[in-house]
Amino acid sequence: MSSDPNCIFCKIVAGTIPCFKLLEDEHTLAFMDINPANDGHCLVISKGHHANLYETPPAVLGHVMASVRRVATAVRDVLAPDGINLVQANGKGAEQSVFHFHIHVLPRRIGDDLKMNWGLRPGDMKAISALAERIRAKVA
Ligand code: 5GP
Ligand code: ZN
Repeated sequence: MSSDPNCIFCKIVAGTIPCFKLLEDEHTLAFMDINPANDGHCLVISKGHHANLYETPPAVLGHVMASVRRVATAVRDVLAPDGINLVQANGKGAEQSVFHFHIHVLPRRIGDDLKMNWGLRPGDMKAISALAERIRAKVA
């Protein structure tokens, strides 16, 4: 499996950087975003290092999307948001900041007026950890 020693998500996959883990299988990993745009914002990534959509093999995309479905379902069950957006950025113009394939699972509330470029604001780690526990327990 490809890995980049300078990539933050590869370090999370390797366990050298901690995360609030939600799901792990052979090909994918899901964890809380530490700069959440909304409560329950999480990420699903390929375990292998692929910079973006174009460089990710279709079979891997399939594995990631299957995990996205499991995680989004758990987020829906735990937080009962009004909706969930899946967001996936490719390139700087799309505000991609981590060049390792990932999909944002973004719970939405009616009227939250979330912008595409939501900015990175560190979240409350205790609150993120508590939410991670509840979502992890729901992942089927
Ligand atoms: P992008 O901007 O590439 O679409 O999204 C990258 C996401 O990764 C951002 O939402 C950012 O908050 C998140 N992120 C960056 N570094 C870390 C980290 O060390 N841990 C976690 N859990 N998320 C991170
Ligand atoms: Zn990587």
